[in-house]
Amino acid sequence: MNARSIGLILILAPIAAQADLNVFACEPEWAALATEIGQDRVNSYSATTALQDPHYIQARPSLIAKVRKADLVICSGAQLEIGWLPVLLQKANNRKVMPGSSGYFEASRFVDRFGATGDVDRAKGDIHPLGNPHVQMNPYNIATIAVALAQRMGEIDADNSDAYQAGLAGFSERWSKATESWEQKVEPLRGRRVITHHKSWVYLERWLGLVEVSNLEAIPGLPPTAGHLSQLVSRFEHGGADFIVRSPYQDRRASNWLSERTGIPSIELPLTVGGNDRATDLFNLFDDIIDRLLEASQ
Ligand SMILES: [Zn+2]
Repeated sequence: MNARSIGLILILAPIAAQADLNVFACEPEWAALATEIGQDRVNSYSATTALQDPHYIQARPSLIAKVRKADLVICSGAQLEIGWLPVLLQKANNRKVMPGSSGYFEASRFVDRFGATGDVDRAKGDIHPLGNPHVQMNPYNIATIAVALAQRMGEIDADNSDAYQAGLAGFSERWSKATESWEQKVEPLRGRRVITHHKSWVYLERWLGLVEVSNLEAIPGLPPTAGHLSQLVSRFEHGGADFIVRSPYQDRRASNWLSERTGIPSIELPLTVGGNDRATDLFNLFDDIIDRLLEASQ
């Protein structure tokens, strides 16, 4: 091998190592799920972090550039991203990932959405008019969405279709074992009453048998008001709730204020991957949520 051919190999090597599928996820949980399925065949990017409210981010130029290069856009859907995703898609003008094309994947379409039957009042400003979009908070939803996602990844990138199915099989097996181990721990949580900041936890509650007794937001999407918080103090100062739950991006003052006046413990739970130091992947995310709930319930 002469010096020139060695040089050529060095130039080509990084190209050969590039991922085959560029994934633009709206939220970290979907970037993580695509990576679980595709491993190094996918290059996953998340538009939001766990420390941002996915309802409200800026459609920044850097995000438009990412959508322009994407082969697959994965979002929760059900209008969670209505304030920014349509702008990104329009400005990126990437036909591969427009709604209706195979490169556009809305995770919440594949599961039963809480409140999708019309029991929300849009006129009052509820930001979940198509049902609750925070579907990642139930491991069975994740399992169902993983199957649909692996299928879609194989459609877009047919050369790796078998690899995505193998990735799915490995993930599904580990995920169902993890789900079983979570379910062995969570009996003490059944029937516990929660007040949540935003209606982000309905799928977790359904899975664990938690009872949501109120929210700090009087209507989903409207920040807690002093009047509403005062009403909650009157209602809960002598009991009636076991935890107050918020996400890392929500203003802790409201939950702490209520906690101080009622004695109900206030806990911060990661809503997605990256929500705290421990929640580094989907498995650790649920490990962490369950351990924090169990600790608070003792
Ligand atoms: Zn929401």
